Amino acid sequence: MAPQLESYYKAIDGLTDTFIDRLAEAVAIPSISAEEARRPDVVKMGHWLKSQLETLGASMEARELGKRPGKEHLTLPPAIIGRYPAKKDESKRTILVYGHYDVQPAEKSDGWNTEPFKLSVDSKGRMYGRGSTDDKGPVLGWVNAIQAHQKAGIEFPVNLLMCFEGMEEYGSEGLDDFIIAECKPGKFFEDADAVCISDNYWLGTEKPCLTYGLRGCSYYSIEISGPGQDLHSGVYGGTAQEPMTDLVRVMGGLVDTNGTILIPGIKDLVAPVTDDEQALYKNIAFEMSNLYESIGSETGIFPDKERTLMGRWRYPSLSIHGVEGAFSAPGAKTVIPAKVIGKFSIRTVPNMEPDDVDKLVYAHVEKAFAGLKSKNTLKVSLQHSGKWWVASPKHWNFTAAAKAVEKVWGVKPDLTREGGSIPVTLTFEQATGKNVLLLPMGSSTDAAHSINEKLDKKNYIEGIKLLGSYLHYVAEEPMSVA
Ligand SMILES: [Zn+2]
Repeated sequence: MAPQLESYYKAIDGLTDTFIDRLAEAVAIPSISAEEARRPDVVKMGHWLKSQLETLGASMEARELGKRPGKEHLTLPPAIIGRYPAKKDESKRTILVYGHYDVQPAEKSDGWNTEPFKLSVDSKGRMYGRGSTDDKGPVLGWVNAIQAHQKAGIEFPVNLLMCFEGMEEYGSEGLDDFIIAECKPGKFFEDADAVCISDNYWLGTEKPCLTYGLRGCSYYSIEISGPGQDLHSGVYGGTAQEPMTDLVRVMGGLVDTNGTILIPGIKDLVAPVTDDEQALYKNIAFEMSNLYESIGSETGIFPDKERTLMGRWRYPSLSIHGVEGAFSAPGAKTVIPAKVIGKFSIRTVPNMEPDDVDKLVYAHVEKAFAGLKSKNTLKVSLQHSGKWWVASPKHWNFTAAAKAVEKVWGVKPDLTREGGSIPVTLTFEQATGKNVLLLPMGSSTDAAHSINEKLDKKNYIEGIKLLGSYLHYVAEEPMSVA
């Protein structure tokens, strides 16, 4: 039943230079969404992408998302949406794909070895440039897949719906409402049968993966204040109650050295590990040395791979990030800060409802503070929260993708989760009501968001084969499995 993909692969091999040139052209547009002055470049990048797809016969639209909230002089870059083939084939499935055409900031002086906005390919086939792996390479993967089908003269297997945004690296402003509106009956994305997002990475460098879960994040602050202004410890130490002392004592009761969250009730919200889930961890290509290498020390919490990956993916964690208002400069200043704000966040997992987590956090912090019998004032609040996401890796969307990985890379993919968040994933799932698959192209060493971001030529070219193969397999995968 394997689709005949050889001519498609051959077309890709023949178009390799064209595809690398296309990535170089995209990288050369510094579409940095976080910098106001670069906004014209972000818009330019969106229109460039739109015209690339139009040249290939796709029906494209640039949808305005309005002004940036709180910065009314700044127009948000458009969502570039489209359909290929231009006219819907009712006999085929419809797959909605998402990616982003904006990038993180980058300056050569940050420590780049090459110009960040000039794609530089080294002798090992590493293609350096801002956006190469996050997310211009994967976005162009879809464009290139269309072109390779045309060159090979084979029929495109699905109706492809596309949604490309230009604000992902700045919180996807304006996109959630747009997606929700366009998934309603009669709207652009209404007929999606499944969703595929290529905007994350392999767990390592050798073995491809499919990603079926993300943790959520709830971020809190604890403000403790007392004196009317900062005080000197030589004068007031021993006479005034100190906010910093209270804060340290309250924050000290949130989590222990081995990452155990000390807030009562949190543990009870966590879904138990099933046998099915446990089995997924055994064969995952990951060594403890990978952890040590990436954290730069051997200070891991757990000695084994399974528990380490579970700690990253499927159990909650609590991290203390910093204290605003505290004396943090070098030296020995004898200040008593008048007001300090401690910040921490909890990475959340199924079945932790954000509201329930908030209640437990507030109750615990307030009780801990009350126990101090301090005359200072406490305020605990939520700064922001985003919910976790988990999909069934047994869904036909995933089984089709797994076949595509095996065909292109010759191995069964690892089924992974991520410890971080990609909020748009949950938005797509809720708005379409359909399965969402994360199908990464790049590998763990690509340094997305860092200096010297790169995408390996092999991951790019084989990745184009993978995205196209996925569309063939997903077109004919039996829908019996959910
Ligand atoms: Zn990205």
